[in-house]
Amino acid sequence: MSQGPLALPGDKPCPCARLGANAKPLRFSACCGQYLDGDGAPPDAHSLMRSRYSAFALQREAYLLATWHTSTRPVQVGFDTTGKWLGLEVREAQTSSPTDAEVEFIARYKPAGASAWRLHERSRFVLQEGRWWYVDGVQLV
Ligand SMILES: [Zn+2]
Repeated sequence: MSQGPLALPGDKPCPCARLGANAKPLRFSACCGQYLDGDGAPPDAHSLMRSRYSAFALQREAYLLATWHTSTRPVQVGFDTTGKWLGLEVREAQTSSPTDAEVEFIARYKPAGASAWRLHERSRFVLQEGRWWYVDGVQLV
């Protein structure tokens, strides 16, 4: 089932479709690529959430596990390699304390041979050891 990481050239639009100052989508290397392919850590929970969406889209299991808080981290991450992530919409990103943040988003996915569906989730993040971690999420309807 899992085929391993997919490569994406740095000059391609980032899978998370974050817009730059000129309202155009950022290049992968200027967005999540600096975390997925570089050694930088996302500076805030919002950027971490976007980078984890891109990691799902590119089947980067190592990155997903490395940004998952140890208290909730699974042993492995499975990917449906026949489908495709269609897009991400961040509804709200808020910091409730200097070390706690929540990000509400909608991600759309199209399985092969089936209708597309939406994942609407509010994810929790914590700041520890100088970097942000994904803790868990609640699915919203
Ligand atoms: Zn991105």
